[in-house]
Amino acid sequence: MQVHKLNEITEHLVHSSPDALLVVDEDAVIRFANETVAVMFGHGAESLIGKPLETLVPKRFRDRHLGHVLSYGKSPQNREMGARSRELHALRADGSEFPANIRLAPLRVGGKLYVAAAVRDATERVRASQELISAREEADRANRAKSRFLATASHDLRQPIQTIQLLNAALLKIVPDAESRDLLRQQHAAIDGMVHLLNALLDISRLESGAIDPVVTNVALATVCQELRVEFQSVAMSKAIDFHVANASIGIATDRTLFYQVLHNLVANAIKYTERGFVRLRIEEHDERVSIIVEDSGIGIPQDKLDRIFDEYYQVDARGAKRMGVGLGLAIVREAAHMLGLSVTITSKLGEGTRACVDVPRRMIVQEAVKAEAAPVAAPAEALPSTSRVLLVEDNNAVRLATEAFLKLEGFNTLSAATVADAERMFVDVQPGDIVIADFHLDTKHTGVDLLFGLRARVGFEVPAIILSGDLPTLLRTVNGEISNCVFLSKPVDVDALVQAINGLSAGVRVGA
Ligand code: ADP
Repeated sequence: MQVHKLNEITEHLVHSSPDALLVVDEDAVIRFANETVAVMFGHGAESLIGKPLETLVPKRFRDRHLGHVLSYGKSPQNREMGARSRELHALRADGSEFPANIRLAPLRVGGKLYVAAAVRDATERVRASQELISAREEADRANRAKSRFLATASHDLRQPIQTIQLLNAALLKIVPDAESRDLLRQQHAAIDGMVHLLNALLDISRLESGAIDPVVTNVALATVCQELRVEFQSVAMSKAIDFHVANASIGIATDRTLFYQVLHNLVANAIKYTERGFVRLRIEEHDERVSIIVEDSGIGIPQDKLDRIFDEYYQVDARGAKRMGVGLGLAIVREAAHMLGLSVTITSKLGEGTRACVDVPRRMIVQEAVKAEAAPVAAPAEALPSTSRVLLVEDNNAVRLATEAFLKLEGFNTLSAATVADAERMFVDVQPGDIVIADFHLDTKHTGVDLLFGLRARVGFEVPAIILSGDLPTLLRTVNGEISNCVFLSKPVDVDALVQAINGLSAGVRVGA
């Protein structure tokens, strides 16, 4: 290419560059401007020559800008201007402004230092990123609203489901013919499924909406293991699975309820997806961490599905005969583990079994501080003495009537009150042997626990009680520990668990008396 042609091309390129190009001297006076400057700033390129660079800078930025120019002269290098500050703005001839990206490069000509600046109009980029930010904020808002809606809806659905559950149990007691009883049993199974789904929905929406503040205490792993043994022993036995939970002596600084939920869901899955062989929980101590491993010899998970199993509502065999849950168990594990700073990994071989590993970082391990708490013992299901009464306090009419009907059919001498004031009036003659069942949320001023403490103070002995709550994890955090002679049950309460708790408390009273 001929030299004069090359110069022509270079000149053409410089003037028609998509960026506005400027050269300023060390006094920040404009010495060169290309033709794009005219398009971008509305000043004729020639008319800018000899003008101070400030001409192109909005007034409010001029002082700061001068400082930049002077400091650039001290260490000139090719760099983005204002990369660490927020947005840069440039001033048009008509007084309007636009966001700009500016790149600077030192230029030495004839021993003198100049600065070359490439200015790009960033209006479109800024608009796009603002749109992105608002879309993101909108999505976050919608997601939080969804979680709040789910939490409220699943919470409010508990009362009617509790009523249906109790009426179903009451009907099963009085309906004599086999065909109707069979239908009621099917209804019972459907209600159980609904309760399970509701609990899972409530758990995941609470975790996702950030409504849970973990309360860290020293949790004895031995106690957690014992509770898992008690909870899963009978179902493992009914499937003839060899179920073994290791003994553990360490303590963990964590939120007890969430931690239990993580292990509970992993063991529940292991048992659910295993038909023969074993389910084991064992503990491995490493330098940096302690691993709690839940392994089974069950159906296993295909390799290509492993990275999806922690997603909400994901089930490997969602339509097949193996569908046994609602697909939220591992999403709850994921959220709870994240909140607690635990990492959970699952490996599996199809047809051979699955291994879930919960890694607890060393810093969370409390070696000796924790003594194993007394292991809970399944209460013997003995009947309450005939002189004893069950004193029920429940503010929801339908739930109260259904509970009362069920308890009476179970043979309990039952008295019920709708308000704290009614309860105080009706329960003046509380006798040893009587048991209180109260909803935790009674009215805006009182909880079932307040009512219980008031009653105990008044009668002068430790009236045994069952407190029911639609939000058991929060209740357990609120009471922070245990209240003696008091059992907490989740609402909707399983009717067998309710009867067992009543009989357990009454047996405790007789043993202690
Ligand atoms: P689900 O309520 O369906 O059990 P989860 O979120 O707990 O939902 O688990 C997601 C899916 O991962 C399950 O549907 C199941 O296909 C698979 N899965 C989880 N744990 C196991 C396991 N121990 N053995 C085999 N498959 C499992």
